[in-house]
Amino acid sequence: MLTTFNLRPSSIGGFHDCAFRFFNIHLLGIRSWSGYAAVRGTAVHKGAEVIWKEAIKAGEKKFSLTTAKDAAAQAVEEEVTNDEREVRFFDFETKEGAIDDAVKGVEVYARDITPEVEIPAKVETYLKAKIDDDITINGTFDAFTPDGTIVDIKTTGRKAVPAKYIDQMSVYARLAQANGLEPNMKYQIQNVVFLKNDTVAHLFEREVDIPSAQRKIDDIVKRVKWYKKHPDDGHIAFPANPNSYLCSEKYCPVFDTCYIRNDVPF
Ligand code: SF4
Repeated sequence: MLTTFNLRPSSIGGFHDCAFRFFNIHLLGIRSWSGYAAVRGTAVHKGAEVIWKEAIKAGEKKFSLTTAKDAAAQAVEEEVTNDEREVRFFDFETKEGAIDDAVKGVEVYARDITPEVEIPAKVETYLKAKIDDDITINGTFDAFTPDGTIVDIKTTGRKAVPAKYIDQMSVYARLAQANGLEPNMKYQIQNVVFLKNDTVAHLFEREVDIPSAQRKIDDIVKRVKWYKKHPDDGHIAFPANPNSYLCSEKYCPVFDTCYIRNDVPF
C-alpha cells in the first residue's frame, strides 16, 4: 500500500512517455537499472560538479581539470560497483569505454561550456517541497546561477532538443520557488553530445512555464490520490503506452509483465 510519494522533476518526462512504467518504478518501487549512457552521464556531472565547486571556492574560473577527470572516472567505477544499483551494459559496452567517454566529456565541458557561462551560485543542491498530504516533490539541481537561472547538464547521443526538458525545468523552478529561491524563469541546458566519432557541446537557454508545470503536477497528484483509493486499478490512472520509445525489454523493467504487452487481464 502506497503511503508517501516523492515526485522527482527528472521523472516527469517518463510519466508522459509511459505512465504505467512511471507507476511501476515510482509508485510500486519496481527496480529499474542504469545503462551505459546513464553511467557516463552521472560521471560527466561529477566532473562538472568538481569544476564548479573549485571555481566557487576560488571566486574565479580556476580549477584542476585533472581532478575533475579523475572524479568522473571514479564515478564510473562507483556506479558499476554500487550494490544498491543495477547497471546493464550491452555486450559491446565496457566500463573502460564509459571511463574514456566520461573523461572526454569532462574535457569538452571544461573547454566549451565553462568559458561561456557564469560561475554558479549553487551546485548539486537538493530541494524538497510538500505539495499534498504524503506527496512531495524533491530533486537536485545541477546548478543555479547568481541571477536565478536553473541549469541542467544533459549528456546525449545527439544534439539535445531543449523544449523536451521544459516540464522538468519548470518543475525545478516551482521547487525553487517553494524553497524561497527566486528563479528568474529561465533554464539553461549545458549539453555534452557523444557523437560516433566526436564529442561536442552546446548551450541553450529557454523560458520555464510554471503554470503548465503546475497543471502537470496537479494531474499526477490527482492520479496518485485516485490510485490510493483504488489500489487494484493503478493501470487506469496510469495507462500504458506501447508506443513509448523505451518500450522494450532492454529499457522497461516491467516489459515481461506489462498488461498491454502481454494481454494480461487485470
Ligand atoms: S512494456 Fe511498454 S507499455 Fe508496458 S510499461 Fe513498459 S514501456 Fe510502458
